Amino acid sequence: KTTTKPPPMPSPLRNSKFFQSNMRILVTGGAGFIGSHLVDKLMENEKNEVIVADNYFTGSKDNLKKWIGHPRFELIRHDVTEPLLIEVDQIYHLACPASPIFYKYNPVKTIKTNVIGTLNMLGLAKRVGARILLTSTSEVYGDPLVHPQPESYWGNVNPIGVRSCYDEGKRVAETLMFDYHRQHGIEIRIARIFNTYGPRMNIDDGVLLAISLLKHFVQKPGTQTRSFCYVSDMVDGLIRLMEGENTGPINIGNPGEFTMIELAENVKELINPNVEIKMVENTPDDPRQRKPDITKAKELLGWEPKVKLRDGLPLMEEDFRLRLGAPKMK
Ligand code: NAD
Ligand code: UDP
Repeated sequence: KTTTKPPPMPSPLRNSKFFQSNMRILVTGGAGFIGSHLVDKLMENEKNEVIVADNYFTGSKDNLKKWIGHPRFELIRHDVTEPLLIEVDQIYHLACPASPIFYKYNPVKTIKTNVIGTLNMLGLAKRVGARILLTSTSEVYGDPLVHPQPESYWGNVNPIGVRSCYDEGKRVAETLMFDYHRQHGIEIRIARIFNTYGPRMNIDDGVLLAISLLKHFVQKPGTQTRSFCYVSDMVDGLIRLMEGENTGPINIGNPGEFTMIELAENVKELINPNVEIKMVENTPDDPRQRKPDITKAKELLGWEPKVKLRDGLPLMEEDFRLRLGAPKMK
């Protein structure tokens, strides 16, 4: 066990009769890809009330349309770089653009979201005595010199590169989480998420834009590897981490490792035999390899991914095709 249980914190509203029965859960970034699937799962439990705070930078109301108007659901347009004054029992703090094209678009804002946003959510957790889970990232390992990456590896990150706003931002967010835990006794959970895919992923997103059905752009050299976790497995891992007794950080990802060329070949075989595979120039600091060591998740959370890439890709393709209004290619 890595958690030292902090003293219970009084919250006048939580103690009132009205709020006692339900668990109030805030999901920041809940209009995004992983966040909206997390909301779907949390809403299945009738004891949960879910509040989403999102500024819609990369997320959309559309991802949550089935819950809008539901009595146990609330959606707030809110930027986490501003303080949020509400009463909740748990906070899943996801707000942050995840894809390189979006987090590099306004790097200063990305840092603010990671640092000031996490600070604000920790402040909220402290005020109301809520447990808070941060979705950190495998990017904290940078271009890793240890493979696969265990949580004990401190990483190889460029502090001044074009990806640093995200990588270093998340590293500071993790530091803030542990400092609030040690200094203020906040109950924290840190998930280090590895590449995740599935329906509702942004259509303009990095590698799995692959499924753009007509062309698959492989950034050179194409031998760089990633490990892709299907979103339902990811959500299951996040909830187990939140409900368990370990602070983390814990890697959550699928250890099945593929080169970007292998991924393209899978797309060709499973989705579209006519897809044109095109080699293009890469962007700076692209990690050469990435694969989670999930020993800790298995031991401490009893979690491991169930969905194989071969089974997940077609599920994602269907969603992309419907959204793009494209015909089936195979
Ligand atoms: P996403 O971009 O689909 O979702 C992020 C959400 O946060 C969006 O709805 C966006 O509008 C919102 N947001 C961004 N900045 C905000 C701000 N300042 N205030 C309020 N809302 C804001 O990304 P995702 O893939 O769902 O990622 C969710 C979390 O998981 C992120 O923290 C990301 O860093 C982490 N993560 C994701 C992956 C992945 O492969 N998808 C990998 C590692 C870590
Ligand atoms: N990539 C690719 N083709 C693309 C986009 C990305 O081959 O059209 C590669 C990219 O070089 C990287 C991997 O896919 O090695 C994953 O990229 P992504 O943008 O999804 O995010 P990252 O894992 O780098 O954060």
